[in-house]
Amino acid sequence: MFELTDRAKRYQEDLLDFMDAHVYPAEPVYEAQMRASGDPHFQPPILEELKVEARRRGLWNLFHPHPGRGPGLTNLEYAPLAEIMGRSHLAPEACNCNAPDTGNMEVLELFGTEEHKEKYLKPLLEGTMASAFAMTEPRVASSDATNIELSMVRDGDSYVLNGRKWFATNALHKNCRVLIVMGKTDPTAAPHRQQTMMVVPIDAPGITLLRGLPVFGYQDRDGHAEIDFTDVRVPATDVLKGEGEGFAISQARLGPGRIHHCMRTIGMAERALELMCERALARVTFGRPIADNANIQDWIAEARIEIEMIRLLTLKAAHLMDTVGNKAARTEIAAIKVAAPNIALKIVDRAIQVHGGAGVTDDFPLAAAWAHLRTLRLADGPDEVHKRTIARQELRKYAKKEI
Ligand SMILES: Cc1cc2nc3c(=O)[nH]c(=O)nc-3n(C[C@H](O)[C@H](O)[C@H](O)COP(=O)(O)OP(=O)(O)OC[C@H]3O[C@@H](n4cnc5c(N)ncnc54)[C@H](O)[C@@H]3O)c2cc1C
Repeated sequence: MFELTDRAKRYQEDLLDFMDAHVYPAEPVYEAQMRASGDPHFQPPILEELKVEARRRGLWNLFHPHPGRGPGLTNLEYAPLAEIMGRSHLAPEACNCNAPDTGNMEVLELFGTEEHKEKYLKPLLEGTMASAFAMTEPRVASSDATNIELSMVRDGDSYVLNGRKWFATNALHKNCRVLIVMGKTDPTAAPHRQQTMMVVPIDAPGITLLRGLPVFGYQDRDGHAEIDFTDVRVPATDVLKGEGEGFAISQARLGPGRIHHCMRTIGMAERALELMCERALARVTFGRPIADNANIQDWIAEARIEIEMIRLLTLKAAHLMDTVGNKAARTEIAAIKVAAPNIALKIVDRAIQVHGGAGVTDDFPLAAAWAHLRTLRLADGPDEVHKRTIARQELRKYAKKEI
């Protein structure tokens, strides 16, 4: 079941080789360069070197479903590759396969004008530009996107934007030049037709990057920005798809984005299990290796069982996306978006425990993986909202009237 195609196998082998030869050895160099810079949003040279090498090896834009932009792989073919990239926090950006740029490229590909493609999509595909997606707002519960308030008011040939966004991931990346912003153009329209998305240069007059939001006290390199919009003028030609299409675009964008997160999450869980086993075998307490204790073996066995379960569910969701489409696969996408981060978190947490104090330091990638995985229970929709999607589908089977 879910047999890999020959081309996916070739990419898998090439990617594994790239990880061993370049990515893992780059991790301590990355840490040292970041520390030496003293700037949490520094773009370390080692990452640019990895990008050159990945591109030279043809390991570039692997996520892109459109042939010519990348290899044009299916979701099922991409899944094991994203899993491998997920093993190191450096690999997705090194291969130009990192969120949120992947989702933004997809939006520009599907809904951008020729000008957007030339100005933004091309450098994004080249990896010379970064982008951010600004939907969530501090003043409203944004897991229900119909609450979004940022106003987009038509004035002649342009729109005037006023409001506040936060958690715009990547907005503090040194190469970030463009935001895809969701706001409200018509508060009187039907709930899912009020929202519109626009392409907005990050240096447009009236945009202020207020701060980088810390995650568990740390500033991520790409940054999660709080952004103020005061009388930001955006030409009407920078509307994506059309007025009132924002909600539909966000659904199109978030489906693939969510499953990509899950694929990478499995890679993190695999690496945590690997580290857990190595450490448990290497350290001795009370006269025997830590690995000899029944509870530790129980954690290791459970980790193996659970990784296999989430991988199979991810592959099933990917297969359905390829064969019946993202909409019909929404229950499986929602299910894996809940299961993968929760299970990987548990495995990483146990791996941290087996490492003792070292587990919470940055000598191992476990603490950073835990922090990232914990945010994935919120980003791209909190667990409860995905469970709501699943429950509604289940209940619909039994309810007499529409829910
Ligand atoms: C690290 C990180 C990166 C992010 N990156 C981006 C980004 O790039 N762009 C962007 O626009 N946003 C981004 N987000 C924001 C993220 O998508 C939102 O935080 C998320 O959608 C939840 O919205 P909210 O924070 O407004 O929570 P709220 O909508 O206020 O919800 C709070 C909580 O209420 C509960 N809840 C909500 N609805 C239900 C329900 N129906 N049943 C039961 N419980 C419910 C959930 O537990 C939820 O966590 C990011 C968030 C994080 C943490």
